[in-house]
Amino acid sequence: MPILDSPVCAVLATRCFLASSPLTVPKTWPALRAGSPRGSSSMAEGAEREKGEGLSLKEWQGWGTSSPVPAMVAEVVEDLRALERETGTHMSFGGLGGKLQGSFKVHEDIKHRAVYDSLTDPEKKLQFFAARQIACRVLGNRGYLCQKCWLPMEDCMCSRLVPCPLWCGIKFWLYMHPKDFLRQNNTGKLLWQIFGIQAATLCLFGIPEHEEIMWDAFRHSGKGMVWFLYPNKSLSPKSVHDIFLEEPFTGLEDQTAISEEKPSNFVLIDGTWSNSAAMYRRLKDRWTSLCEDEDLPCISLSTLGASLMHKLRPQPSWDRTCTAAAAAGLLSELHLCPELSVHGLDEQAEAVEDAIDVLLHALTTRRLRRGRPITRKDRHLDLIK
Ligand SMILES: [Zn+2]
Repeated sequence: MPILDSPVCAVLATRCFLASSPLTVPKTWPALRAGSPRGSSSMAEGAEREKGEGLSLKEWQGWGTSSPVPAMVAEVVEDLRALERETGTHMSFGGLGGKLQGSFKVHEDIKHRAVYDSLTDPEKKLQFFAARQIACRVLGNRGYLCQKCWLPMEDCMCSRLVPCPLWCGIKFWLYMHPKDFLRQNNTGKLLWQIFGIQAATLCLFGIPEHEEIMWDAFRHSGKGMVWFLYPNKSLSPKSVHDIFLEEPFTGLEDQTAISEEKPSNFVLIDGTWSNSAAMYRRLKDRWTSLCEDEDLPCISLSTLGASLMHKLRPQPSWDRTCTAAAAAGLLSELHLCPELSVHGLDEQAEAVEDAIDVLLHALTTRRLRRGRPITRKDRHLDLIK
């Protein structure tokens, strides 16, 4: 979830992506509906991508993932470029989050609405929505944002972040909504910047390639080794204390051990409150089908952990509900378990908190430089998530 909302961030300068000579036969949008295979790329298409017009594996992975380029994202990118050629207009982006604008936007609106309406399968609709969001964000922020910290190049904070290895008994999954992808004020990205993409892995909501990687890992880990951080009051989620102190290592069915041999998976839902409900439902449905009607194993941070964190970090400018702070809170609480106290989880929590401070400082500095005040009333209501 974002630490500060859009008013803090700059309006992206309009950037145009000039269409080049058409090396490929323009693909039609109905190809998406048919789910056309992508393995038939010609050498010319490959060469075109190498020149940076399409979405290369290197560029894709540079944004913080080790996954292959999602097929539908690549398809949307290609179709956007084909639309440029068909209409003789150039893609241009403005605002935040890589929003299309200008006359190309008019053409693209008609196209994407037609594709969306033609899809009858809700799953396909979701996947198309997600792929289009992500494709536009990648194209709109190409060459503008630092790929690692997702801040404009001139505000890159990478040199101020201090990496810290995460204890190998823990693995984080950032289940991120497409609208949070490449957001400057997103805090989930801090986790893989600090811990690395293998210890804190991005999983984009609605992107099958990402979701399959995550669910494969869960299947491999087994029940008792997967936890979802989500405040689900109706289910009375267990606290760290419940799971790892009162029922240490034997608690639930199967094993509930945290050990080096087999990492426990902690899933952080990284979206705005309004989006996170749908994300939760998707996780729950998948879990239920995987584990035969069992409820999603939710874990909540205790007030003890929260108060400890606020005591340690009294800054009022962020709170524990931002995604990275939730991860820090979890590590702090796990550190209180005697069996886990030797793994330096407190230092790892501190590293995350330091990273949040660095991000907040970078965003604040940018805002001040642009002559914008830093007052709560000027911020969007959901600036601190
Ligand atoms: Zn950077």
